[in-house]
Amino acid sequence: MFGLKDKIALVTGGNGGIGLGMARGLGQAGSTVIIVGRNAEKSAAALRELQSLGVRAESLACDVSREDAVQELFAQVQARHGRLDILVNNAGSTIRKPPQDFTLDDWHQVMDVNLTSAFLCSRAAYPLMKAAGAGKIINIGSILSIFGAPYAPAYCASKGGIVQFTKSLATAWAKDGIQANAVLPGWIDTELTVGARNQVAGLNERVLARTPAGRWGTPQDLAGIAVFLASAASDFVTGAAIPVDGGYSVS
Ligand code: NAP
Repeated sequence: MFGLKDKIALVTGGNGGIGLGMARGLGQAGSTVIIVGRNAEKSAAALRELQSLGVRAESLACDVSREDAVQELFAQVQARHGRLDILVNNAGSTIRKPPQDFTLDDWHQVMDVNLTSAFLCSRAAYPLMKAAGAGKIINIGSILSIFGAPYAPAYCASKGGIVQFTKSLATAWAKDGIQANAVLPGWIDTELTVGARNQVAGLNERVLARTPAGRWGTPQDLAGIAVFLASAASDFVTGAAIPVDGGYSVS
């Protein structure tokens, strides 16, 4: 039920953090994993790690916020594999400033990487999934899809948008056998949050006090939900937004 043998998965931002944690899970469940990022060194290191675990993995370079680059990326996937079964829209970044200090460029940068990329990649994946009569799209939101944060206006808007975009995909493409779901990670220890932990006084203590599990999450904590949402086990689950947050959102 959870096996992914013979499946092809593409994970944007799969060369580090949560994306790499999900790529490990998908690969260890049997899928071939294509990791996508911009930083060639990080991608090479992630590829070595996946291959050392026995995962069939490859990496492709792409800035997923750019329409032409995404078109080229999916043309390469089509040429190499002729199919795509699983798409994880995980690439993301943030700019930490209060709303009044945000420039329009800041706004577009965060929205383009976090939200527009999910639209571009999903649109590009659709013909491949439709042709197969099946597909799994996993969009990475955040607990900031639900909560506000004073230093993350565009991040919150983009992650709220991911949830609604996911519902739209789910309703549009169910008839094609495609399920689309969102995952809302809590506070996970990655490069993205190291910065916040250092810059925001008291954040570490607040996260530990508020998270019922009593710890930060790890990228490995996201592997299981990726396998579930990529596999036949979730064939009747679509349009959902599932927190993976150690209980943060219910405390
Ligand atoms: P991370 O370690 O900084 O990883 C971000 C990944 O996105 C990197 O692999 C990066 O690769 C890639 N990326 C960024 N911009 C890109 C672009 N324009 N084109 C292609 N790839 C791009 O962060 P993370 O914590 O794992 O975050 C992954 C996702 O989880 C993000 O969507 C984030 O918002 C979400 N999330 C994280 C947390 C958390 O606590 N960590 C909580 C909730 C949600 P390159 O640098 O090589 O491009």
